[in-house]
Amino acid sequence: MISVFDLFKIGIGPSSSHTVGPMVAANLFLTSLRKQTELTSIKSLEIELYGSLAATGKGHATDTAILLGLLGHAPSSIDTRLTNQYLSAIFSNKQLNIAGEHIIAFDTERDIQWYGETVLPYHPNAMTIRVSLADDSHYQQTYYSVGGGFVINEEDATNPDEDHATPTIDSLPYPFNTAAELLEQCRQHRLSVSELVLANECHYRDQPEVFAYLDSIWESMQDCVTRGCQNSGILPGGLDVKRRAQALHLQLCAEKNQDIAKNDKLVAMDWIDLYALAVNEENANGGNVVTAPTNGAAGIIPAVMHYYRDFLPNYSVEGARKFLLNATAIGSLIKQNASISGAEVGCQGEVGSACAMAASALAEIIGGDPAQCLNAAEIGIEHNLGLTCDPVGGLVQVPCIERNAMGAVKAVNAARLACRGNGQHFVSLDKVIETMRVTGADMLDKYKETSRGGLAVYADNRIPTATHGVSVKYSQC
Ligand code: SF4
Repeated sequence: MISVFDLFKIGIGPSSSHTVGPMVAANLFLTSLRKQTELTSIKSLEIELYGSLAATGKGHATDTAILLGLLGHAPSSIDTRLTNQYLSAIFSNKQLNIAGEHIIAFDTERDIQWYGETVLPYHPNAMTIRVSLADDSHYQQTYYSVGGGFVINEEDATNPDEDHATPTIDSLPYPFNTAAELLEQCRQHRLSVSELVLANECHYRDQPEVFAYLDSIWESMQDCVTRGCQNSGILPGGLDVKRRAQALHLQLCAEKNQDIAKNDKLVAMDWIDLYALAVNEENANGGNVVTAPTNGAAGIIPAVMHYYRDFLPNYSVEGARKFLLNATAIGSLIKQNASISGAEVGCQGEVGSACAMAASALAEIIGGDPAQCLNAAEIGIEHNLGLTCDPVGGLVQVPCIERNAMGAVKAVNAARLACRGNGQHFVSLDKVIETMRVTGADMLDKYKETSRGGLAVYADNRIPTATHGVSVKYSQC
């Protein structure tokens, strides 16, 4: 089971796989290099990006994320207001101050290579960092950013049977690999999904530590929505996408006490849209967001949790903890048995997964039993199956920002629909997760975070119409 500590992380936008993961990889590289030698022995450093990391890395700020990681910054602690200041020496002076300890010459044009056409065997998101050392030897590591900020190195990738990240599942009090096993554990031990996940989490950590982490995640989500409702302007990257959350927030606040809002039975939907837009605009702007379970889909779970906080009668901090714990079970099942990576299975793995996680969690909050929760999750995935990843310009803006609003509303609908039934459903959660995996494997690469198909080609006004339908390399357009 993937822990809540791994599935929900405070990170940096705009992408968990293309920004958070590469920054983590750079941190890991420095840690592993220190075990071999002193950082002061580095003469030069090169970065190679492969597959999707290269194809959409410019729009996702992959290069700058790696550089920030090499400067010694981590996704959870970096002050994103100072990002440009941190990077300025690299771009203006062509110098890289590795971990703040050792300065080398570094030219981003010369020392970062983009191999968008080359996909390494293990995963489409791959990167290699290589240094040459004072004794003329070289040291290099290849990392795979496998979605949601998770990173594995070449050794982990070539020994898949060894779980390098988390303790073995058998040592958990309530182990489960499938949704059927999860349901059986819940039934046998008369536990809700969130109670079961909490018991598993407390196998490794004290309950106060788990609760403190959950509270910090929820607090970060709320801070992110607040910032997103305050900030306006044009998002970076060149598409000239205008931020909408601030204006929508002002509009909804102004209408609050008017008849139009009081008589509008669907006003909550406008607020859910707002919460999702606020988070994803912050993400697109490179701000701090909670990876949930990815950055591209980071708005869905906070939006549904804000709906719970602001529109349902039974909100409590304990309920918010339950929400995140329940969502962890679903995210864990999808990550273990399919993927949460857009580069691997398309957007169904990002927005579809977040929708399923939020749907199951909300189902528990509104009184659903474990079977109804799993039904809600199944609905959340089933109606996102086949969803492609085709961000225009390689930027996590169009369709991503609005897609989170749609995913959040769909999650609420899925939870409500599931709770009107008895939990029995035609397609099981396990089957729909497997369908997502197989559909993702069948999906053409141009629909898997390469920005070479779909909206990325047909909706980008900067691409000449003559090239539509032709596989185009974005950087040539
Ligand atoms: S289209 Fe979906 S998977 Fe692709 S970058 Fe946007 S949110 Fe992520």
